[in-house]
Amino acid sequence: MSENMNVEELFGSNVFSMRTMRERLPKEAYDEIEAVIEHGGELTLATADIVAKAMKEWAIEKGATHYTHWFQPLTGITAEKHDSFVSHPNPEGKMIMEFKGKELIKGEPDASSFPSGGLRATFEARGYTAWDITSPAFVKETATGPTLCIPTAFCSYTGEALDKKTPLLRSLEALSNQALRIVRLFGNTEATRVNASVGAEQEYFLVDQTKALQREDLIFSGRTLFGAPAPKGQEMDDHYFGVIRERVGAFMKDVNIELWKLGVTSKTQHNEAAPAQHELAPIYESANIAVDHNQLIMETLKRVAGKHGLRCLLHEKPFSGVNGSGKHNNWSITTDNGVNLLEPGESPNENIQFLLVLACIMKAVDTHADLLRQSASNVGNDLRLGGYEAPPAIISMFLGEQLEDVVKQLVETGKASNLIEGGTLQTGVSTLPDFEIDATDRNRTSPFAFTGNKFEFRNVGSEDSIGSPNTILNAIVAEAFCEAADRLEAADDFNLAVHNLIKEYMTKHQRIIFNGDGYSEEWVKEAARRGLPNIPSMVEAVGALTTEKSINLFEKFGIFTKNELESRAEILYETYAKTINIEALTMVDMANKQLVPAVIKYAGDLANTVNAINAAGADATTSSDLLKRVTGLLKQMQDARVSLSIIEKDGSKMPRGKEQAYYYREKVVPAMEALRHPADELERIVDKEYWPFPTYADLLFEV
Ligand code: ADP
Ligand code: MG
Repeated sequence: MSENMNVEELFGSNVFSMRTMRERLPKEAYDEIEAVIEHGGELTLATADIVAKAMKEWAIEKGATHYTHWFQPLTGITAEKHDSFVSHPNPEGKMIMEFKGKELIKGEPDASSFPSGGLRATFEARGYTAWDITSPAFVKETATGPTLCIPTAFCSYTGEALDKKTPLLRSLEALSNQALRIVRLFGNTEATRVNASVGAEQEYFLVDQTKALQREDLIFSGRTLFGAPAPKGQEMDDHYFGVIRERVGAFMKDVNIELWKLGVTSKTQHNEAAPAQHELAPIYESANIAVDHNQLIMETLKRVAGKHGLRCLLHEKPFSGVNGSGKHNNWSITTDNGVNLLEPGESPNENIQFLLVLACIMKAVDTHADLLRQSASNVGNDLRLGGYEAPPAIISMFLGEQLEDVVKQLVETGKASNLIEGGTLQTGVSTLPDFEIDATDRNRTSPFAFTGNKFEFRNVGSEDSIGSPNTILNAIVAEAFCEAADRLEAADDFNLAVHNLIKEYMTKHQRIIFNGDGYSEEWVKEAARRGLPNIPSMVEAVGALTTEKSINLFEKFGIFTKNELESRAEILYETYAKTINIEALTMVDMANKQLVPAVIKYAGDLANTVNAINAAGADATTSSDLLKRVTGLLKQMQDARVSLSIIEKDGSKMPRGKEQAYYYREKVVPAMEALRHPADELERIVDKEYWPFPTYADLLFEV
């Protein structure tokens, strides 16, 4: 890329966008696509053929030889199976590159190896992928050559969702339908759809690739399983927003170029709190596309890192002792005539609508705090949430001082007429205020913070898909909107009814508001007193999916069936046990083949030194004391290694499911910690020359 890159030209150049379609499709075909995107439905096969042909020609011009249905199975990452456009040659041996409408709209990957939680019996293993027409096709440039990627949903033949996209689309539908009822009540007759907008800030670590590849734990687990802290951590606050180093800067530049080509609005980049930690944020967009784009961001970060001799670690907690990584999921709701429902308005009417929406969200978050917690849990995030860095595991809401005060007044007196910070109110309604929102976000510890015109859900893990958190957000808010609309539509006196409803919801769900220090012990106690759930780990969070409350919610809005929920729970339990099992085996392997031998060698050399010093008639106590300490820890490490092996073996023989997952959490995880402890102690005292792999200091400070 030349020095003067033309970003305007570059942006979206690899996307089969609406603009490209308008240029390349006959008008009728374009109109049909546009209608389906806006109002749902299916393309006719004839139109699909026309679109497929145009798409193929466009992709071939970009150098593509293959296409793939790009989907998001329950592994949390994306999947693709490439097919070339090559077709059967004619008798003269001439082949024409082909791509038909039916190949565009439907695919049948042999999907028997994707997690299905028992939904898809192996005899009917062939799930199918269906084009999600609301997310544009794009050409991805990788070492396999440019490939046409078609975003798809992935379902079983009986129609059950096997992916993250299908429920998200269903939840967006539900949110739209219910939010429309709300805006209609306030006289908005123009809006025909309401969409969720999402902007996800992505944190990540960058380390040197050669060094990373010398550590089995980084290779197999994406995080360090051993490692004493470096003498310096993040205590100086000198990395956060610091000058971006040359090597990292060159990487970021390439990442931006790749993302812009894909139509991802990479916007901000900076160094994060921990050494070697960084962040990238795009501009918010429609939720479905934001979810796809976040996958592309993660993929691009990894791929481009490799080209720069770097390794991008997306794990939630790659290094203990310094901050881990998350994903702040910024979420708002906007009508297709441009009204953000989370934007307090200028008129009393708009403010009442805003307060109603706020009351509904309070109700939703309080009622389904367990589901929200679950949606942001994965194995890596267990090491982060509640770890005095990221938000705590207890879900609460932060509204900002002013808005919190409005809620308090409404609850206590039924009206809010004074604004703190001195402002007087001009309002057309005696009981509800006009107000200006204090957009400054003074509380970084809150899991769910109102930041001016959006909510920021901060618990999501850095490696996780944002599909589930947004599905849950949409679903729980749709439910609250639905209940509110049911009541308000039936009310004789709308103004009185809406006022009473706001007051009722805010009073009932006020306990979810918390403005204090989310890291403190007092909050844990206070939250317990308020009856807020404190779900400490992923395994404990899974159950939230299959409560009666949850099944009712999801079935009511057609987002998940009970079957789908149960299968997802199964998959999560399995994923947990498998992930911890890999970590345990990796630790055992590293201990056996690297740590124990290295420490034995060091102890041996130390023993020789002790003998030599004694033979020379000098004082050997320093060396012999060190030797005793080292051999003591060596024994401790070896014992812990043996016991972890036994515990792991027992776990791996258990039938898959809940019980096994709990076993891994309660037995295997502590056994891993017991092994790590003496190993990290040894790392502190053993001569660096003997240490078998790069240390935290090598990894965190040398990029
Ligand atoms: P922060 O102070 O948290 O870095 P920013 O203003 O930089 O906040 O925004 C972070 C993310 O929130 C960006 O992706 C941004 O596009 C997104 N965002 C801004 N406004 C909205 C909105 N109304 N709805 C959803 N996301 C939004
Ligand atoms: Mg933020």
